[in-house]
Amino acid sequence: MSAGVRIIMFGRQGAGKGTQSARLAKHFDVPHISTGEMLRNAVKQDSVVGRAAKAVLDRGELVDDGLMVSLVQGRISQEDARTAGFVLDGFPRTIGQATAFDSLTQTRPVGFVIDLDVNREIVLGRLSSRRTCERCDAIYTATGKEPNNWKCEKCGGAVVQRTDDSPVAINKRLDVYETQTAPLISYYQGRGSLHVVDGLGSPDQVFDRIKTVVETGLRR
Ligand code: ADP
Ligand code: ZN
Repeated sequence: MSAGVRIIMFGRQGAGKGTQSARLAKHFDVPHISTGEMLRNAVKQDSVVGRAAKAVLDRGELVDDGLMVSLVQGRISQEDARTAGFVLDGFPRTIGQATAFDSLTQTRPVGFVIDLDVNREIVLGRLSSRRTCERCDAIYTATGKEPNNWKCEKCGGAVVQRTDDSPVAINKRLDVYETQTAPLISYYQGRGSLHVVDGLGSPDQVFDRIKTVVETGLRR
């Protein structure tokens, strides 16, 4: 029996993957595994992984496949993910990661790959105005009217622009998405596990669409 819900969330940077993954994880009571967040935490803690990843992250490039696969392998083998399942946010991002992940999960394959679809022009606008709490990663949208020392409503931390949300790094990340990550769409399409969900609309509307896909699939 394959207990649990295993979901891969997939889509351009700024498509709303993080927000929707968190909501899905809460709804299905499974851990939300964000590789971007794991890496940013590693950088904050100045761990070995963090030191290896920092410059790559700031340039908007991808961290090495081997390192990513071992990070994720470590995380999904923990008790909560083994028993309940997971929402995987930001991984796999290359064909190499996807094939490695397939062999890791051979006995319990991922049930849903959701492609949250938002075009490049729109995500470019969203990312340019995105601001993030340094402490808790809460996301805000800049309007230009904020004070210089903008504080997070949730935790009081400083609200800043992520170093990889600079115009140069944003464009780099979107290019990397097209060349390295977009090929995964046909990879998963080929195995019939891909569901394309329109990412335009309010967070509630988008969440309802994704939830319908997963709940319909679970009933089958
Ligand atoms: P975004 O999707 O907006 O780029 P993430 O928080 O998912 O934001 O990722 C931030 C950065 O972390 C990426 O630009 C990349 O450098 C690194 N990263 C995250 N996940 C992966 C992955 N699966 N493979 C390689 N690098 C990754
Ligand atoms: Zn905060």
